[in-house]
Amino acid sequence: IPQDGSVIIEMARFKEVHEVDLINRTITVGPGVINLRITEHVNAEGYHYAPDPSSQKACTIGGNVAENSGGPHTLKYGVTVNHVLGLEMVLADGELVTLGANHFGLPGPDLLGLVTGSEGTFGIITKIICRLTANPEKAVTLLGIYKSVRDACESVSSIIGHGIIPAAMEMLDKIMISAVEKALKPGFPLDAEAVLIVELDGLSDGLEKEAQVVEKLLKESGATTVNRASDEVERAKIWRARKEAFGAIGQISPSYYVQDGVIPRSKLPEVLDEIAAIGKRHGLTVANVFHAGDGNLHPLILYDYEKPQEVEKAHAIGEEILSSCIRHGGTLSGEHGIGIEKAEWMSELYSANSLDNMQNVRVLFNPENLLNPGKIFPQPGRCAESKSGTPPQQILALNKPKMVASKSGIAL
Ligand SMILES: Cc1cc2nc3c(=O)[nH]c(=O)nc-3n(C[C@H](O)[C@H](O)[C@H](O)COP(=O)(O)OP(=O)(O)OC[C@H]3O[C@@H](n4cnc5c(N)ncnc54)[C@H](O)[C@@H]3O)c2cc1C
Repeated sequence: IPQDGSVIIEMARFKEVHEVDLINRTITVGPGVINLRITEHVNAEGYHYAPDPSSQKACTIGGNVAENSGGPHTLKYGVTVNHVLGLEMVLADGELVTLGANHFGLPGPDLLGLVTGSEGTFGIITKIICRLTANPEKAVTLLGIYKSVRDACESVSSIIGHGIIPAAMEMLDKIMISAVEKALKPGFPLDAEAVLIVELDGLSDGLEKEAQVVEKLLKESGATTVNRASDEVERAKIWRARKEAFGAIGQISPSYYVQDGVIPRSKLPEVLDEIAAIGKRHGLTVANVFHAGDGNLHPLILYDYEKPQEVEKAHAIGEEILSSCIRHGGTLSGEHGIGIEKAEWMSELYSANSLDNMQNVRVLFNPENLLNPGKIFPQPGRCAESKSGTPPQQILALNKPKMVASKSGIAL
């Protein structure tokens, strides 16, 4: 959303695949390349791009770097910052800089890591070197079926507690199950309170043994049944239901407002109970489909946009959910970013000094705050009215507050 007086810079046409380097397992792309296209480009060679946001059919790699996006499989494989090796970026004054390289292990402070997740406030990314990951030899996809959301949450803790890190652990509650069954018919039981998708992958050797251990743990922690995808078709059906779940909500509600918060995964049962209670108190339904293994919640608040009272209630519920995440030791966003919507909330999470430090880093890249103004950081003036009431501090002026083009940089 552009702020007053802004211009929109559209990057969709930067959709070139510049280079595929299978020896170094990298692909260099323009920021407008759609996430899924990267995997499609190299899949026949036995590789993929690991971060797989549920929006991967539509979102761009530039947006992914700006948001440090994750996805179901980031539980095992990590988020965008773990899969970007280098980038080219235009600063606010038009200078072109390069960060990183086509290999890992550059010494010195990690400027590339700073840019990843800076939500377009540091520069305009024009090229990205992504790491390619070899496709796993085998994957086993299990579906735990539960009579209570709490039991499904217990399964998540139990599996991780036993030292097993699956490739993905994703949960859908009863409301989401009814929506995806109407839209996509994956075969999830309508009388279940929750289903938990657990995917294990890796070398064929040993995978079956691990799958049996996980199946046992799922049952011991409350799964009434554990199904297993018998082939690629069934596996794809399960994943389609997960990745297209937000869209399926259209089957049961005229509109939804999705929150994105993170909590320590051990707090899942109590926070999910609290979210249900918040929705009930305001008289709206809240559905849940989320990255359970990472404790990354996506409560979908169902409302009717033609009823102003419901719109107001949806906002109130969203705020209470965020408060709950922070109170339980969590944070404001797992992957959708802070943007404008949550900027004022940053002072709930960080001290004024921490926010000043972040602004000082931003100043190095974008001294006059020309790029994505209003995003991430609480606005001066408004910060004084922020929920914690912390007044803004003076932003320190650095001596030479500007990035310069890299001399030894990579030939991108
Ligand atoms: C249905 C649905 C499911 C989702 N699931 C996930 C999920 O599983 N995991 C996840 O992480 N996110 C998810 N998201 C959120 C979203 O898809 C991601 O944040 C994604 O990375 C945004 O990419 P985009 O191309 O849409 O970026 P945009 O929305 O266009 O931009 C996002 C931000 O990045 C900035 N930006 C974009 N391109 C550049 C560039 N070239 N240089 C500098 N800044 C730039 C923009 O200014 C903006 O601030 C989901 C969203 C939806 C709607």
